[in-house]
Amino acid sequence: MKGVLATDRRGIRELGAEELVGWDEVTQGVILESFEVPMEENVAHIRPEERPYSDFSSYTATVASWRVIKPVYNRDICIDCQNCWVWCPDTSIISRDKQMLGIDYDHCKGCGVCVEVCPTNPKSLLMFSEAEEPEAALAKWPEKKKKEKK
Ligand code: SF4
Ligand code: SF4
Repeated sequence: MKGVLATDRRGIRELGAEELVGWDEVTQGVILESFEVPMEENVAHIRPEERPYSDFSSYTATVASWRVIKPVYNRDICIDCQNCWVWCPDTSIISRDKQMLGIDYDHCKGCGVCVEVCPTNPKSLLMFSEAEEPEAALAKWPEKKKKEKK
């Protein structure tokens, strides 16, 4: 767990190995608190990035290191329909006030579901190699497909 970092957006926080134990060291049945507040305190009204996460919460750690392909977002085509936000299985689409803002690459697993459900033509999200720079990916964006005549 040493050196696990969250991003700027999530508030940079280095998780010190001395203070933490690995998953295989945790006693069975133990409760890992997600927040540094009593359980009865409701944090649902606080925006996700402002909640007092504990070091045991996966929100504070980057967990996407095994991703090999990633979604790239094209703001110019997006219609803010929120489909990607609804369907992402890792809550990795960042949306505020019904406006799509981008992808949380700390937690995105590269599954491609967001691309599948994006309804625009061409899609506003496309999968690229993890190594591809966003600008280079945007330069390769496909043109709008014409409807086939029946
Ligand atoms: S690729 Fe998968 S995990 Fe990543 S943002 Fe899209 S739906 Fe979410
Ligand atoms: S599904 Fe596509 S069009 Fe809809 S908000 Fe997401 S990126 Fe934008």
